[in-house]
Amino acid sequence: MGLDDIRRRISAAEERAGRAPGSVTLIAVSKVQPEGRVTAVLDAGHRVFGENYVQEAQGKWPGWRARFPGVELHMIGPLQSNKTKAAVELFDAIHTLDRMTLARKLAQQIADQGRSPQLFIQVNTGDEPQKAGILADELPVFLSSCGDLGLSPQGLMCIPPEDADPLPHFRLLRRLAADHGLPNLSMGMSADFETAIAEGATHVRVGSAIFGARDYG
Ligand SMILES: *Cc1c(COP(=O)(O)O)cnc(C)c1O
Repeated sequence: MGLDDIRRRISAAEERAGRAPGSVTLIAVSKVQPEGRVTAVLDAGHRVFGENYVQEAQGKWPGWRARFPGVELHMIGPLQSNKTKAAVELFDAIHTLDRMTLARKLAQQIADQGRSPQLFIQVNTGDEPQKAGILADELPVFLSSCGDLGLSPQGLMCIPPEDADPLPHFRLLRRLAADHGLPNLSMGMSADFETAIAEGATHVRVGSAIFGARDYG
């Protein structure tokens, strides 16, 4: 299990960047991983996890939550509008607010359920046509529309283009968050979380480096 190693590397990256110890939250991304690997990380005391699929998370986490109190669950995958109710029931944070239709559904569920997951807006920092996320140019209008719905997202999230240097994308996300006074930055995965921490990440999403490779078999 790579948890201890990743924790050490996060602490070292915080120190190198002159950031306070513990200022970065490690989200252990457990999607598709076999039960034994996830319970090993729970047994080691880790409590913050990320999932990509509402249905998969619904199947796994109620049971684990009963056994391991204090779990904090983050939705980091694309959220279909028809899964909004389940997502608001299950997750403590949603990193993938990426369109107005979803914002409206979330606002409705938050009002109905009286539960308010922390919200991050996904930004398409690479302007990739196939990728989800708000374009940087559209962020001011999107934020103000969220405000009209009574939503107050507290952070931004990005997934840099594959095979590209992630650094300019992390820098852009940091600048956008600063421009809008948003305190949280969800960026950095197994291959680049140390770079993301140097650029101000508050939440890193690390899967395979903790649990091992995913087997989608
Ligand atoms: C799967 C996934 C991760 C984790 O990826 P690793 O490379 O295994 O660390 C992080 N963020 C998102 C959005 C993901 O879908």
